[in-house]
Amino acid sequence: MTAQPAAAAARATVYGYPRQGQNRELKKAVEGYWKGRATAAALRETAADLRRSNWQQLADAGIDEVPTGDFSYYDHVLDTSVMVGAVPERHRAAVQADALDGYFAMARGTQDVAPLEMTKWFDTNYHYLVPELGPDTVFRADSAKQVAELTEALAIGHTARPVLVGPVTYLLLAKPAPGVAADFDPLTLIDRLLPVYAEVLADLRAAGAEWVQLDEPALVQDRTRAELNAAERAYRDLGALADRPKLLVASYFGRLGDALGILAKAPVDGLALDFTETAAANLGDLASVGGLSGKRLVAGVVNGRNIWINDLEKSLATLGTLLGLADRVDVAASCSLLHVPLDADAERDIDPQVARWLAFARQKTREISVLARGLSQGTGAIAAELTANRADLASRAGSALTRDPAVRARTAAVTDADARRSQPYAERAAAQRAALGLPLLPTTTIGSFPQTTELRTARADLRAGRIDTDGYEERIRNEIREVLSFQEKAGIDVLVHGEPERNDMVQYFAEQLTGYLATQHGWVQSYGTRYVRPPILAGDISRPEPMTVRWTTYAQSLTSRPVKGMLTGPVTMLAWSFVRDDQPLGDTARQVALALRDEVNDLEAAGTSVIQVDEPALRETLPLRAADHPAYLEWATGSFRLSTSGVRPDTQIHTHMCYAEFGDIVQAIDDLDADVISLEAARSHMQVARELAAHGYPREAGPGVYDIHSPRVPSAEEAAALLRTGLEAIPADRLWVNPDCGLKTRGWPETRAALENMVAAARTVRGELSGS
Ligand code: GLN
Ligand code: ZN
Repeated sequence: MTAQPAAAAARATVYGYPRQGQNRELKKAVEGYWKGRATAAALRETAADLRRSNWQQLADAGIDEVPTGDFSYYDHVLDTSVMVGAVPERHRAAVQADALDGYFAMARGTQDVAPLEMTKWFDTNYHYLVPELGPDTVFRADSAKQVAELTEALAIGHTARPVLVGPVTYLLLAKPAPGVAADFDPLTLIDRLLPVYAEVLADLRAAGAEWVQLDEPALVQDRTRAELNAAERAYRDLGALADRPKLLVASYFGRLGDALGILAKAPVDGLALDFTETAAANLGDLASVGGLSGKRLVAGVVNGRNIWINDLEKSLATLGTLLGLADRVDVAASCSLLHVPLDADAERDIDPQVARWLAFARQKTREISVLARGLSQGTGAIAAELTANRADLASRAGSALTRDPAVRARTAAVTDADARRSQPYAERAAAQRAALGLPLLPTTTIGSFPQTTELRTARADLRAGRIDTDGYEERIRNEIREVLSFQEKAGIDVLVHGEPERNDMVQYFAEQLTGYLATQHGWVQSYGTRYVRPPILAGDISRPEPMTVRWTTYAQSLTSRPVKGMLTGPVTMLAWSFVRDDQPLGDTARQVALALRDEVNDLEAAGTSVIQVDEPALRETLPLRAADHPAYLEWATGSFRLSTSGVRPDTQIHTHMCYAEFGDIVQAIDDLDADVISLEAARSHMQVARELAAHGYPREAGPGVYDIHSPRVPSAEEAAALLRTGLEAIPADRLWVNPDCGLKTRGWPETRAALENMVAAARTVRGELSGS
């Protein structure tokens, strides 16, 4: 370890902190306000308390410079839309009547007005509200929230740095407002937007900001020349402002690439770079642009989006190398800590030997401060921390949980042939047709049926010990009977058991697989007041016993029609968990795939002839840079095939995907080699059917004819019209009829009506086909 003391003391900082509070106080306060149980004043007070307590936690952990403005009642991109005055026409009256209610109307919609669209924040599981812009958008600065939060922090003595979504990223995240031409490019508004940022910066300067951070994560994605030019112009203009705070432009989630050269030359005062997964690339790029002379470099060496302890020596080595490449080097997490839970010490049920490997937000802030101290004062100043860290890392590397010889031997023995079905599709299809005897345009559903209050109560009763396992399972069997009897009466061809036993499609399996951990308090914001508790994939994965077979076979015992087995695929299991970082994702996916393969084979052996393996996350975990796509798609499709290729030719494998544009991954969908795929399609009027056809997709597909995201019941005629559109792209003998996604968020009455209409539509169109 050769880190020399830095010339200036390195500062410890972060870009954002979990907003919800120790006991999700923010969720309770906001939802209480929505329900009219709490006043706006009470909500504001809770929020101010949370901010104060967050800053105090940061300061106590040794963070020298705390962020402000990262707090949000709902979403920081929506806050940015408010800050620049980009309120959609349809929400203006509500915002004028009451700013807070108008804000929530934009976030959630009202009886009469639709909310802003919501989508994923880069490749995280956080969702932001998409700005809607058009050629007529007039921006107007509203710095009130940013100024107020900075003032709060300064007043109680913190060194604070406001954090804003940068102007380039803001525009790149926007989409054309309704009614605006689809090819409108929001980035053309940059010249109109910059004066508004200039005003906000001046207000923050006047309120006492020495530094302001502008987040530009969109610059770690592939960008066109024109986009890079816009970034160059933006920071030339903002840098040239007369009375401005110092500007720190922050990048995260990957390699800054071409934009690094531009920002290194720009008249800004600091740059933040991600030195976690793409450390080597950013380091190399930084060296090749000759470093950041005259600038501050904030080094994100602590991973802000996983939950594992840092390798302090490795980070110190990186920091040491950086010292020669900038005027001063400060230490941070790679991105806002919004993406991790608050406090690992709150977990009481995790084995202490494993808990020492975990770092949530609070633990990460301590790591950052230790690293800053080590960088400033030399490694001697943090000798005790380094020794403890070395021991924790060694305990993880040597643990039986992370290294199970049986799992390792099995994954090592996997061959290419294991990930290939034994017969080509045409022969399988014939065997399946003979075995299943389904009508033309077969009808099915995606798996879940309404998760009723009774089901949730049953689970709560079981947890609280009010009922025992037998009592709980009796309730589940009752539900399965109802779901089966409804489907038979409705005339659906391939049935499902309805997934009543599953709280969540990932957690349900995680709880049954060795190598996964569950948390008690590990909440992470998904969007607005919705928080999720992702399981932790900590070790080698194995399946002690079958996970779904008895429920599927119970359902099958009630009917002579085929009941589909229902599993979550390896890619989605990884995407919606915190995954171990000590081996390539592809290796972890292969272990999960083998566990699922056993489940698939057991289902087949128990008489299940149709098995669906869901991969809704296949598209969303696509890497941000195109150069990284092939390697990802290789392991993603390979692990899916590994889980599904152990079956007989006459066993039909289905898969399902939703919430995404599939156009750019049609080849990957093809490479899954599933016999049938169901996809979300209703709202886009079967767009995906045309995309599959254009690609020459050779297998069966069910583009959704029923949008399950709203309680609205589509009529039989509407579903039939979508089917006819589907038939223009996919021939009748390869087209399935199904909803867009699972029905767990719907109520029973609308589900019944919609599925009856769907079956009626299939019958009508079958009639038209046999008539022609
Ligand atoms: N089988 C799951 C369900 O029906 C699929 C959910 C999903 O695609 N997100 O709920
Ligand atoms: Zn879905």
